[in-house]
Amino acid sequence: MARFGLPVVLVASAALTPWLGRAQPAPYDLVLRNGRVIDGTGLPWYHSDVALRGDTIVRIAPVIDGPATREIDVAGQVIAPGFIDIHTHARRGINQVPTAPNYIRQGVTTVMEGPDGSSPVPLGPFFEQLEALPKSINIGSFIGQGSVRAAVIGNVDRKATPEEIIRMQALVEQGMKDGAVGLSTGLFYVPGTFTPTAEVIELAKVAGRYGGMHESHQRDDASKVVESVRETIAIGEGGGLPTQISHHKVIGSAYWGKSVETLRLVDEARARGVDVTIDQYPYTASATSVSAALLPAWALEGTRQAQLDRLHDPATRAKIKSESAAMIRDERGGGDPKNVQFASCGFDPSLAGKTLADLTRLRGLDPTIENGAEVTMWLVEQGGCQGIFHAMGDADLERILAHPMTMIASDGEIPVFGQASPHPRSYGTFARVLGVYVRDKRVIRLEEAVRKMTSFPAARLKLTDRGVLRPGMKADIAVFDPARVRDTATYTQPHQYAEGFLVVIVNGQIVFEKNDMTAARPGRVLYGPGK
Ligand SMILES: [Zn+2]
Repeated sequence: MARFGLPVVLVASAALTPWLGRAQPAPYDLVLRNGRVIDGTGLPWYHSDVALRGDTIVRIAPVIDGPATREIDVAGQVIAPGFIDIHTHARRGINQVPTAPNYIRQGVTTVMEGPDGSSPVPLGPFFEQLEALPKSINIGSFIGQGSVRAAVIGNVDRKATPEEIIRMQALVEQGMKDGAVGLSTGLFYVPGTFTPTAEVIELAKVAGRYGGMHESHQRDDASKVVESVRETIAIGEGGGLPTQISHHKVIGSAYWGKSVETLRLVDEARARGVDVTIDQYPYTASATSVSAALLPAWALEGTRQAQLDRLHDPATRAKIKSESAAMIRDERGGGDPKNVQFASCGFDPSLAGKTLADLTRLRGLDPTIENGAEVTMWLVEQGGCQGIFHAMGDADLERILAHPMTMIASDGEIPVFGQASPHPRSYGTFARVLGVYVRDKRVIRLEEAVRKMTSFPAARLKLTDRGVLRPGMKADIAVFDPARVRDTATYTQPHQYAEGFLVVIVNGQIVFEKNDMTAARPGRVLYGPGK
């Protein structure tokens, strides 16, 4: 049947189509024909055509007659809303690579910045600069609590004074008025980790007043993951706003299985009226800076010089080393220096892709946990690295993914193709869910996966005109073959694009087709409800 034949791309030329010669324009700019529509709500797919005019979906019907400037026969492939990635580090790379092919080529049409408590402060100039940037992808941002705290108090371990809380609230308010979608926290990181929960709640109240949400890189995802989930819920409850556990995970084999309890806490909170949700990337390795992952937070307080002074004091160094060894043994180190891989090291780019075990050997030491801690301190002295940490279990990953309150988010960035050795999540997150966890392992249904990538994050972000395929909605669309979609980026070969996508459309314009990015730059800045 032609319906399931190879995709055929039809271009109507003015010479062959008389209606284009007349004064009135074609009713449709683009019609996608013969699709299996998955509308983003979780409902089952159905056969349909989809017609666009300008930046908007104008008709969805089994057969759409009438002229169109352009038609594409998608031959039975899935037509879905473009995917919305609620947690990214896209400001790493958006200026160098404004086409964001790593995201577009896996169907992502919107990315959110400002995660983990880290954002530009104030946001206004950042948004202005993004507005001026010709880009393929839509982008928005959170306002980061850690950055706000650093601007008012600095990088130090103490409580805020009432007067400082008022100044921080004013910065959050300004961020929401500038267009932030909510407040992000990174209570795991310096300086967020120095913040008492009650202080976060005072800031969350301001974001909530402007219709924003809270998302958290939790204080701890290892031994204290359950307490950390309780804290994220408490911030939502006390702040009176929706709250989200970002990139939910359980780090350290000693703690694997705790997602049973964390998900129960989420269910119980929702049952009593606290709006808590989750996002997750489909990998058993995390990525962050080596210093944040493998040194205690107290060792990172203050200036770079203060950190170096601690490392140069023999007694303090010994204490840091023993805590670092424990973090390699029980937490992000995954029990072995070989489970820590370098993504990029500013002081020595040749280390990208190597492991902490490799570097320990290069330094003339056996790759034991103790020596790994010694070399970790050495590399922090050299200027530090970004790392990838293999320390999660598949059972937790699948349990969290299957939970209805979990949406998909990459936690990725926009890499410069071929540069450094980034976590493969930047290239593969969405395709991996569709290929591995829908098609191969059958952990969730295809329509449920698409919901987790589209209407669910859109509703969370109050993007009321995106995330669902329906007439009147903005035309952000991903067309893919559910039998072929797959991620190809790996930990050792990360710079590889996802496969199985036929066409990706942003604001009505095709940004990807025929296996290549187009010249279109229709991406917009998307603002939160406070603007
Ligand atoms: Zn994070």
